Amino acid sequence: MKFFAVIGDPIVHSKSPRMHNNALQILRQNAVYVKYHLKDKTKLRDIVKLFDGVNITIPFKEEAFKIADFKDDSVTCIGSANTLLYKHNQIYAYNTDYIGFLKAIDDFYNVKKVLILGAGGTAKAIAYALKTKNIQILIANRSKARLELLSDYQCCLYDDLNPNEHFDLIVNTTSAGLNNMDLPCSKDLLKNLFLNASYAFDVIYGKQTPFMKLAKQYNLQIKDGLQMLLWQGVFAYELFLDCKNTEEIFKAMELALKLP
Ligand code: NDP
Repeated sequence: MKFFAVIGDPIVHSKSPRMHNNALQILRQNAVYVKYHLKDKTKLRDIVKLFDGVNITIPFKEEAFKIADFKDDSVTCIGSANTLLYKHNQIYAYNTDYIGFLKAIDDFYNVKKVLILGAGGTAKAIAYALKTKNIQILIANRSKARLELLSDYQCCLYDDLNPNEHFDLIVNTTSAGLNNMDLPCSKDLLKNLFLNASYAFDVIYGKQTPFMKLAKQYNLQIKDGLQMLLWQGVFAYELFLDCKNTEEIFKAMELALKLP
């Protein structure tokens, strides 16, 4: 029997066990997927070794990068990992968030220039994803510290953004709106940016954030982070089980999220 887990802090709300266990069951795998609440990042390596594979969520994705013996190219470029395999006494690190994002925006056409709001781990994964497609990117953030670590990308503070600049897609990677009514940046700035854009994407899922509501008012085609969550799960599953049943796994995971 194989054992998998999602490790994070907090972890109680994670949907990953529900998604993975339904796929494991439907694809008749002798395996189980659990939640692991870790508080101390120095214990991550020891805990990972208890499982055949794990997903890593907030706040340990950067620590997952550090403890890995082998890093996939995407992990090296992004600087964080959300999927680890433990085999032959070694930890192998992958990042399926970035492919998850690309799959999620599959139906956004003709995207040539993207504005990413926020400069944390998710912003880096999304910027890497867009870079692999040769899409022009600007990353904007409310404060300087994180921007200074993003030397590979064009970056600026919200205060220095040109409100009339055209972007095909605007992505909110901040947690503004997750537990409050905040927008990631000023409403006037966003209104101007939305006037010239076609698509808006929010990595938050399961609720209409103020960012999404405003984008809707400007008739943008919008999408939340649910498909990204689903697709990162599908690709993690394929790594865990060393298989390729993409459509079947996606359907099983999608169904799991619809179950009461
Ligand atoms: P980080 O902590 O690495 O980065 C957070 C970023 O958000 C920073 O740039 C921070 O700015 C900014 N920020 C936080 N609060 C506010 C606010 N109130 N107003 C403006 N900016 C703010 O987080 P992650 O990148 O790891 O995660 C971000 C979100 O992405 C989380 O909500 C997470 O759940 C979600 N996510 C969704 C996924 C999916 O599959 N749908 C996958 C992965 C993550 P500053 O630098 O100034 O502090």
